[in-house]
Amino acid sequence: MRTPTADRTTPAAIETSGLHKRYGTRTAVQSLDLTIPAGSVFGLIGPNGAGKTTTLRMLLDIIRPTAGIARVLGSDPRRGGPALRRRIGFVPGDLRLEGRVTGRRLLEFYAEVSGPVAAGAIEEFADRLGAELNRPVHTLSKGNKQKLGLVQAFMHRPELLVLDEPTSGLDPLVQREFLQMLREARAAGQTVLLSSHVLSEIQQAADAVAVLSGGRVVASGDVASLRLAAVRRLRVGLVDAEPARIEQELAALSQVGEVHVISGPDGSVRVTATVAGDINPVVGMLARHRIADLAVEEPDLEESVLRLYGAHTTGAPDA
Ligand code: ATP
Repeated sequence: MRTPTADRTTPAAIETSGLHKRYGTRTAVQSLDLTIPAGSVFGLIGPNGAGKTTTLRMLLDIIRPTAGIARVLGSDPRRGGPALRRRIGFVPGDLRLEGRVTGRRLLEFYAEVSGPVAAGAIEEFADRLGAELNRPVHTLSKGNKQKLGLVQAFMHRPELLVLDEPTSGLDPLVQREFLQMLREARAAGQTVLLSSHVLSEIQQAADAVAVLSGGRVVASGDVASLRLAAVRRLRVGLVDAEPARIEQELAALSQVGEVHVISGPDGSVRVTATVAGDINPVVGMLARHRIADLAVEEPDLEESVLRLYGAHTTGAPDA
C-alpha cells in the first residue's frame, strides 16, 4: 500500500517494501510498504503493540527485518553505518538516561559522535524546551530526560528525524514548543517520522499518516482525509430527562454508535456515546433537552481503529 501523498517528483526520504519482522511465532510487522517524501512530517499511529517501535528500529538498523527492503536517505540501513546515522536524529521510545554526568556534558558527548553542532544550538533547543543542562541526568524526571533526548535529536539539524513517542512525559506547553520545532524542521527541508498512539498529536503535526494495527497498515493518507479523526466520544449530563427516550432518540441517529445511558438521583441522566462523522444532528437532538454539562473527547485510538477497521484487520482498504 503506497502512501497517497508520495509525489513521484519528490525524492523519498524513506521507502520500505514488504518489510516484515517476526519474533518467534509472533509477527510484529507485516509486509510494510511505506513511502515518505523528503521534507514532510509523517506520522505512524496505532494502538499499543501495533508495530510502530519495531518499524522505527528496523529503519535505524537497531533490529534486522525478517524479510523486505528498506531505504533510508537513499541507503540500506544495514549498510549505511555511522555515516548514515549521523544524518539522522533519533529519540527512542524507551529513552533511558542514567549516570552522574550533567545533561550538558552528555549532549556535548553526543555532539562529538553525531557530527557538527552549530555553536549555541544545544542552549537554544534546551531553552526552548526548558531542558535542565546542569543537573546529573540520573536525577532528572522522565519528562526532563525526554527533553534532553529531543535536544540530542535536533541539535545537529539532521536531514531526518525519527522520533518514537516523542512527547511522552512532556507537559502541554512543552508539547506546543515541540510541535513548533517540527514545523521549523519541515520548513528547513528536514524530514520527520514520528510515532504516537495519540491521534490529536499527529493531527497537529503530520502532513500524512499511516495507521498500524496488528503490524499492518490499515489506513493511510493525509491527516484530514482519515476517517479516524471523525470518531469522537460524547459525554453529556442531562437534567429532568427520561433515560429510555434519550436512548431511543440517540439510537435513531446514524452517526451514533455505542450508547450508554445511566439515570442518576433527582432525574439526572448521564449519557456516553460514540459519534462517527457529523456531530451536528447529535448536538441538535441533545439541545432539545436541558444540558447540565457536555464534553466531546477523542476516543482512544484503539477504539477508533477497531471500530473502523475491525480487530487486527488484514488487508483493510485505504482510507
Ligand atoms: P507501543 O505503543 O506499546 O510501544 P508499538 O506499536 O511500538 O507499541 P511494538 O513495540 O513494535 O509496538 O510491538 C509490536 C509487537 O511485537 C507486539 O506484539 C510486541 O509484543 C512484539 N514485540 C516487540 N518486541 C519484541 C521482542 N523483542 N520479542 C518478542 N516480541 C516483541
